Amino acid sequence: MRLVITGAAGFLGSHLTDRFLADGHEVIGLDNFLTGRPENIAHLADEPRFRFVEADVSEPVAVDGAVDGVLHFASPASPPDYQAHPVETLKVGSAGTLHTLELARQHGARYFLASTSEVYGDPLVHPQPESYWGNVSSTGPRSMYDEAKRFAEAAVMTYHRHHGLDTRIVRIFNTYGPRMRPEDGRVVSNFIVQALQGRALTVYGDGRQTRSFCYVSDLIDGIVRLFHSDRHEPTNIGNPVEFTMLELAERVLALTGSPAAVEHRPLPEDDPKVRQPDITIARTVLGWEPAVPLADGLARTVEWFRGVVA
Ligand code: UDP
Repeated sequence: MRLVITGAAGFLGSHLTDRFLADGHEVIGLDNFLTGRPENIAHLADEPRFRFVEADVSEPVAVDGAVDGVLHFASPASPPDYQAHPVETLKVGSAGTLHTLELARQHGARYFLASTSEVYGDPLVHPQPESYWGNVSSTGPRSMYDEAKRFAEAAVMTYHRHHGLDTRIVRIFNTYGPRMRPEDGRVVSNFIVQALQGRALTVYGDGRQTRSFCYVSDLIDGIVRLFHSDRHEPTNIGNPVEFTMLELAERVLALTGSPAAVEHRPLPEDDPKVRQPDITIARTVLGWEPAVPLADGLARTVEWFRGVVA
């Protein structure tokens, strides 16, 4: 297949690119390097089945030749990133989704949207099944990301129903692994970098809020299975094993052997208190199950970060 991946220089986009290349496909990667990094795709410089185009899909986009799939992974995804680039985040989730949907429609290609557990907001149903409509502030400090992704889901379902486009939607829960930016601001990268540098781990609020962390190779496997399935409705992919941020801090300290302290900082406004995917559908429809426990995934991620931070 000849696939277009937006956000190909990002954390997930670059891993997805590697996976599709390893599976024998051809990839045209697009990125504007807002939060993506050239280092993430540098190893593909001599790969004949990979072509990179520096482009911002918030503007209309054209690709020469046949296209079998368009996978829209471009967007800032870390809260500090999307809050630092709020208008770009609104645009890539709205105009960027419409432009890439048009690209898929023109080529008769399959469309795949990277959506997010943030569509559930600060959830009142726990764990979160796909049928839950969410508890999202349309005006709060996370709204530029949450509402852009909710709009994106609506756009994809509209193109599916109205234009008969062959579409998929994945709702991605917290994911970690090599190629996260050290300064990305998410909890896993922050804690690891802080521990390796001997700086205090910054726990926001009392640290009792929870997240469920999925190792990147598991997530990519779920995404690829969904891409090759015939399921059009949104599908959760994430690891349902849930941890508090205090537990995560303790694990990172134990793994790195760091003497760093834990320091509490104010809890950001509208920070979801709990999050855990209900993955019944992924299990039954895709036969997918995460395989990498947090201890293993964190150890691999720490090793990778050792190579990039002093
Ligand atoms: N968090 C934290 N310390 C940090 C960064 C984040 O305690 O240095 C908390 C944050 O308040 C949230 C959780 O960790 O409750 C996950 O935050 P992240 O930004 O990784 O992703 P989110 O799930 O909020 O999008």
